[in-house]
Amino acid sequence: MKANIVLLPGDGIGPEISSQAARVLETISGKFGHDFEFSTHLIGGIAIDQTGDPLPQETIVACRESQAILLGAVGGPKWDDPTAKTRPEVGLLKIRKELGLFANLRPIQLFDQLVDASPLKREIIEGTNILFFRELTGGIYFGESGTSGEGADESAYQSMVYSVSEVERIIRLAAKAARSRSNRLTSVDKANVLEPSRLWRRVAARVMAEEFPDVDYDVVLVDSMAMHLINRPRDFDVVVTGNMFGDILTDEASMLPGSLGMLPSASLGSGGPGLYEPIHGSAPDIAGENIANPLATILAAAMLLRHSLDLNEEAKAIEDAVSQVLNDGLRTPDIARGGDAIGTQEMGAAVIERLSN
Ligand code: NAD
Repeated sequence: MKANIVLLPGDGIGPEISSQAARVLETISGKFGHDFEFSTHLIGGIAIDQTGDPLPQETIVACRESQAILLGAVGGPKWDDPTAKTRPEVGLLKIRKELGLFANLRPIQLFDQLVDASPLKREIIEGTNILFFRELTGGIYFGESGTSGEGADESAYQSMVYSVSEVERIIRLAAKAARSRSNRLTSVDKANVLEPSRLWRRVAARVMAEEFPDVDYDVVLVDSMAMHLINRPRDFDVVVTGNMFGDILTDEASMLPGSLGMLPSASLGSGGPGLYEPIHGSAPDIAGENIANPLATILAAAMLLRHSLDLNEEAKAIEDAVSQVLNDGLRTPDIARGGDAIGTQEMGAAVIERLSN
């Protein structure tokens, strides 16, 4: 397969971790006989420094012409001045919008080797493997807002709006993913209180009944879901929800494995290139020290192969190689729990070595 992959290293540890993930993709390309072409472009703080714009037009064009995008992270104290004209994070929000990336996928997978890093007891967390679908471009974060009045009478509002087509497309994406896993889908809403949630529930039920009758489907209220994630996370497989509920629930869920440096994410639209990145930020406190964990970004590269290039065997090969380095006891400092640790480059090399065997 020929594929054009855009690399957006960004700021802080972004360049260190994304270069390891790019090496892993190059290894896959050679091993499986593909032809991946890489081009590197600016986003975030470094883009502000060099062009004044956190998302230069040239980056947008390159992304549009690609099959998939691998991002490191953006941001850092250097660009935190509240009076600054623009911020690195603007680049990230803008690229999602430019590419119509309406679905954010976050797998919450627990590696058996790291179970003890979880804040939950082994008997509760062991075997947890959830794939979240968060709607990313609608709902309350994009609703009309405003303020009125003064003093004690001042008030503010923000409206939550969902349309039928917005619900249909994310439910379809999540249901298809459920079919490729254990055929179970849970939709999370607040239909007992919110009108947009009632529409969400109605549309989701219709799409599931008409198009996915074979998928085991249920609904859970968001407040109950917040409890279930702590109490019985193993019971969920694919979970789909709106923008704000997804924002909160995926952050809660990302704490379950206890290691931020292990979790990838993907943002997908309809048909165009997907954007893949670790869920963590640019970790400026450890940037340039060769101690950042590159595994979240390497696992994001596996998601890229699976979701944008349909290369499931290759994606699995990366996931197996990551599992193997953990089996072999290799750890970066964030997951070493005070034990022996290796650096970012060494971890990348260890994954590549397992892949090459
Ligand atoms: P962070 O995720 O960057 O770091 C939180 C803590 O986790 C830090 O102690 C960091 O050293 C550690 N950490 C993160 N990733 C790690 C890794 N791969 N290996 C080892 N340790 C790791 O969050 P923060 O400190 O709140 O934010 C730092 C900057 O990142 C801010 O400017 C923020 O706006 C930005 N940010 C960007 C993104 C993104 O690009 N998608 C996401 C979140 C935060």
